[in-house]
Amino acid sequence: HAKFSGRNKFSFFDVSMAQHALNKTEIVKHLRNSMGSDQFSIHYQPIVNLETGMIDKAESLLRWTHPELGFISPDEFIPIAEDIGLICELGDWVFRQSASQVKSWQEKYIENFQLSINISPKQFQNESCDLEEWIDFLSQKALSNKAISLEITEGVMMNEGSLTEQRLGMLKHAGIEISLDNFGTGYSSLAYLKKLNVDYLKIDRTFIQNIHINLDDQVMCEAIVVMAHKLKIKVIAEGVENEAQLNFLKSVGCDYAQGYWFSKPVPGHDFELLLSKNGIQIH
Ligand code: C2E
Ligand code: MG
Ligand code: MG
Repeated sequence: HAKFSGRNKFSFFDVSMAQHALNKTEIVKHLRNSMGSDQFSIHYQPIVNLETGMIDKAESLLRWTHPELGFISPDEFIPIAEDIGLICELGDWVFRQSASQVKSWQEKYIENFQLSINISPKQFQNESCDLEEWIDFLSQKALSNKAISLEITEGVMMNEGSLTEQRLGMLKHAGIEISLDNFGTGYSSLAYLKKLNVDYLKIDRTFIQNIHINLDDQVMCEAIVVMAHKLKIKVIAEGVENEAQLNFLKSVGCDYAQGYWFSKPVPGHDFELLLSKNGIQIH
């Protein structure tokens, strides 16, 4: 039916055509013009504490919906924002929104609630992205420095240099918690793990996908949990989509789980509904 649908009719055909038509130049132009507009929002995805069954953390995930281009994935526009010098502004916005949001959820629901935000390697290594300002912002809001944690990837070590080390040291010193995101997808993971001195390790969803059926994945996952715990690092499993995966993760002592089985990333008001029923409806 797609070829008969008019310009404004929503159909699968139109959407995929539109996505193919997206090119970098177009995104660049629209991204610049959209900065500061209400086209940006944050979705929150629960991170469930497997010991208590409660949501005591969530990940902030940036969303951009353009009136003509439609939804554009952060995997697509974040690298562009980095290239054209907009990443600091976007990152600051995500941080401020998250800090304001976490404050209200701590007051209404859970005292030690934590939001984690993603910070890309280029953002982390960009001197004009002022991370110290973030710490000032937390104290202005009378928030504990544990209210916001940062998710970094092994990529931050690729350009190992004084800025990386100085920043990691500064954040650690301030008491900001750090997660190593997408663990297992980079390389030299073990060496970095020790060097980065992280608080949480997030096992990438590609390792979780078949964990209920694949013995090799089970062995690896269990070994990661044992190793992390010996290093006093907590483990978060990403991309948990079914109960069998969850049961396996519980059986090996994984600390937290995140994934569609619990909830997709959702807008703030929907997330608040999850918090208001916290501990009741979560599997
Ligand atoms: P990430 O940090 O690894 O985030 C997890 C991604 O996995 C999210 O994709 C989330 O929607 C998806 N996900 C969660 N549970 C499941 C599941 O059960 N199954 C499957 N198949 N997927 C699941 P999303 O939101 O599209 O974000 C993609 C990436 O974009 C993020 O990966 C992160 O690297 C980046 N990103 C998102 N927001 C920001 C931001 O504010 N700043 C920066 N620098 N990067 C961001
Ligand atoms: Mg992440
Ligand atoms: Mg991840």
